[in-house]
Amino acid sequence: MSTVNLSAITKQFGDVTAVEELDILIKEGEFFTFLGPSGCGKTTTLRMIAGFYYPTKGKVTFNDKDMTTVPPEKRNTGMVFQNYALFPHMTVFENVAFGLKVRKITKSQTKKRVEDILKKVRLDQYMDRQVSQLSGGQQQRVALARALVIEPDILLLDEPLSNLDARLRDEMRNEILRLQRDYGITTIYVTHDQAEALTMSDRIAVFNMGKCQQVGTPTEIYNQPVNDFVAEFIGETNLIPIAFKKEKNNEKIYHCEQLDADIQVQATEVNIAEYNRNDQLLMSIRPESVQIDKASLTGENVFKGEVILVQFTGASVHTYIKLSSDAIIRATDLNEGPSTYLTNGSKVNVKLPADQIRVIPKA
Ligand code: ADP
Ligand code: MG
Repeated sequence: MSTVNLSAITKQFGDVTAVEELDILIKEGEFFTFLGPSGCGKTTTLRMIAGFYYPTKGKVTFNDKDMTTVPPEKRNTGMVFQNYALFPHMTVFENVAFGLKVRKITKSQTKKRVEDILKKVRLDQYMDRQVSQLSGGQQQRVALARALVIEPDILLLDEPLSNLDARLRDEMRNEILRLQRDYGITTIYVTHDQAEALTMSDRIAVFNMGKCQQVGTPTEIYNQPVNDFVAEFIGETNLIPIAFKKEKNNEKIYHCEQLDADIQVQATEVNIAEYNRNDQLLMSIRPESVQIDKASLTGENVFKGEVILVQFTGASVHTYIKLSSDAIIRATDLNEGPSTYLTNGSKVNVKLPADQIRVIPKA
């Protein structure tokens, strides 16, 4: 087990800056996720931790030991690649044993360790099969076993589930978490899938264009995004430009040109992100926090509108409402049964509760 500290690491490929001045501290035993869209530098960062790339600038340390330019085989990290990178014509046993052979572990020790780990990933029945004869999910387990069999201090997983269908993905999520908890191993997980990140991680770093936007627990990232990129990338949100107007007791008043109205926001740290005087500001309100009712709604930030689209998803219902200012607000409600639906054209009132709005700067 190990801590991983990235200090101001930058990676340049010619003119392309893949990763820029990245600072992240990953704790011992943590399940830590790099989340971000394609091309934002997740794989490059993981490869700098594994030692396949060395940073152009900055420092990588494990447990305070400088690893910046230590070759991969001397780092004791186990890596699962996006495409698994298995040897298709070798058996499951041979694939998993490969790393131990390289490390000159004895035959009998190798046999025991490979058998143990294959039991752990529930593949002991398939030991002598060729990898090319296995399903995608089984190949994924072989890749996991191969990474874990060397007893790494750090487990690195690069989009390990992206080639699997939805049902299998769910199953493997739980499998990976079970193994991670059993071994208590520091794990760094790369994904572009926000649901995967939210459900699996102790903490998440949100990446965009080679930079880390925010580090936090899943609830911090979701409830207290630091800017519009994070708010939009993680979950759904309504984002509308606003400008600060004045402060009143425990509330801040913003003017919203698009809604042609003043907006009250409860002035707490949870609701108002840090911003500078010249930043362009936005209010972010999650669809599940928007209240809608055919009857009148009382209190602050209430608007009249008309339903323009209702999407039934099973567990929840998404409703799009056009306000009289032409702005469109999206609301999400739990499905509460057959008699409760609004329909297109329904006249409704919409409330944006002052304690549910978060004010954030534009990234
Ligand atoms: P992600 O894993 O988040 O999709 P990557 O780390 O693979 O992103 O890539 C980040 C950026 O660096 C991209 O613009 C990509 O094209 C570029 N890049 C990655 N690897 C190389 C490389 N070996 N040579 C040149 N450019 C690269
Ligand atoms: Mg990648």
